[in-house]
Amino acid sequence: MIIKQDFLTHPNCFETSRQGNKIDTIVLHSMDGFYQGTIDWFKNPQTVVSAHYLISKDGQLLQMLKDEWVGYHVGIYEINLKSIGIEMEDEKKREEWVYPQAEIKSLHLLVDHLCAKYKIPKDKDHILLHKNLSPDRIDPVGKFDIKWVLV
Ligand SMILES: [Zn+2]
Repeated sequence: MIIKQDFLTHPNCFETSRQGNKIDTIVLHSMDGFYQGTIDWFKNPQTVVSAHYLISKDGQLLQMLKDEWVGYHVGIYEINLKSIGIEMEDEKKREEWVYPQAEIKSLHLLVDHLCAKYKIPKDKDHILLHKNLSPDRIDPVGKFDIKWVLV
């Protein structure tokens, strides 16, 4: 697994201290569209949201926040303080969107790596979907299945 790094530098979208909170949660998202567009958007100094990792449709992995930083990927600050956010590329916000195998494989490897590193239990209480946390969100979209990463 190769993880490229391109860390965000503008201060509107993350904090460098977790205020003593341990990482014990992973939150899965899908982008509002494409990989490069999301990278550019996160880098825009006006942007006030962020996530730790991005995964492209063809399985590329990019880290934009250090694990020990707090990202603004969920609208619930208490969850941001203790979680790592992963954004998956998608093509459309419709039910028929099918995640490519390369993307699923990279997600699986990344989740395994993070769970091992931070001793996060691989279950539905610790690996969360954004849409299950915020009723106004629909991501991950399409035919995403949490079972892909729980095995
Ligand atoms: Zn999300």
